[in-house]
Amino acid sequence: PKQNVNVNTIQMKSYACQRRTPLKHHNSHLTEALEVLSENAAYGENEGRSVAFRRAASVLKALPYRVQTMDELKCLPCLGDHSQRVIKEILEDGTSREVESMRQSEQFQAMKALTGIFGVGVRTADRWFREGLRSPSDLIRTGQQLNREQQAGVLYYDELNKPVTKHEADLIGDIVKEAVSAVLPGAEIQLMGGFRRGKELGHDVDFLITHPEEGKEEELMPKIISWLEERDLLLYQKTTRNSYLEKKDAPGRPPNNMDRFERCFSIFKLQGHAETTGSDGVRPSNQSEASYWRAVRVDLVVSPYSQFAFATLGWTGSKLFERDLRRWAGQEKHMSLSSHALYDSVQRCYVRAQSEEEIFEYLGLEFIPPCERNA
Ligand code: ATP
Ligand code: MN
Ligand code: MN
Repeated sequence: PKQNVNVNTIQMKSYACQRRTPLKHHNSHLTEALEVLSENAAYGENEGRSVAFRRAASVLKALPYRVQTMDELKCLPCLGDHSQRVIKEILEDGTSREVESMRQSEQFQAMKALTGIFGVGVRTADRWFREGLRSPSDLIRTGQQLNREQQAGVLYYDELNKPVTKHEADLIGDIVKEAVSAVLPGAEIQLMGGFRRGKELGHDVDFLITHPEEGKEEELMPKIISWLEERDLLLYQKTTRNSYLEKKDAPGRPPNNMDRFERCFSIFKLQGHAETTGSDGVRPSNQSEASYWRAVRVDLVVSPYSQFAFATLGWTGSKLFERDLRRWAGQEKHMSLSSHALYDSVQRCYVRAQSEEEIFEYLGLEFIPPCERNA
């Protein structure tokens, strides 16, 4: 039932940053299939194809009704032939043979398992696959050379692949807050990523840290990390220093998705609590009640106050929403947007902003709140 929605009057905009995309939508049976195609294309290092399928899925996520017939798709953007073929198959048969056999294939499953290791990208996973390796245990068995990140990834594989709950994210938030206020009173911290968009589960927890007095935030990360390490709260961390220079970075340089903030990719040791027991309520047998803990991926980013609005926008996601924000800025507005700044190539100047709202306004976009950026 389409509850008063006239499919012919839907005006679906083509950039994800022009649309409201809620977390819960009506077409998961279609979007999940398209996302398998996207993932598979990514495993084959075909970025363009991967993004195309992701875009198609994203358009369906923004629809206010469940698609029933192909007719309803006529006016929608971003749906290529291949996507339409798969949608048609699912509407007619309830499932897509192409997608299902892809999902079952040894290559797809192995690539998923191997890229699911923290620190392992598509290139490495593909090389291992061609050498006959299929899973983290194959890596251990055959004594593969692993870097420090990958060693942690293999060691905590099961836990890192178990979704992080909002409750766990809040517990980690409390710890980070305590650490930050101990080493720099007055610093501010904000939950970012999927949890800021209203997700109840995530693959990690993202935090953005700043201080209202510009400059106070410099070299903050090593102090936070020491505070955490002294308390045995970290299993792994890799800190990168801030390398952003306004003059040297944008404009003119090819846009780079990686930002240059002081940051830390880490694995937290989250001490035991009710939520960390298994779904059956039973603790893993190798850990006593007193020493129970689980591994959780945590990203920490430090931003100068003057860049905080851009950093907030850049670290809220979703990844497709971010990608389209930058594409919109470049193609439609002749501006260059990053997590640090907005550069207006026509006026030849940087645009300052105190809030996300101001950035949307400058880009000529209607403000989309975080919970509707789930593109
Ligand atoms: P999940 O629940 O799976 O963690 P998520 O949306 O939080 O979903 P993340 O991979 O944690 O996904 O990324 C959160 C945001 O941070 C994204 O918007 C992404 O653009 C940004 N981001 C992630 N990694 C980097 C990076 N290395 N450099 C710049 N921005 C990044
Ligand atoms: Mn995240
Ligand atoms: Mn992250």
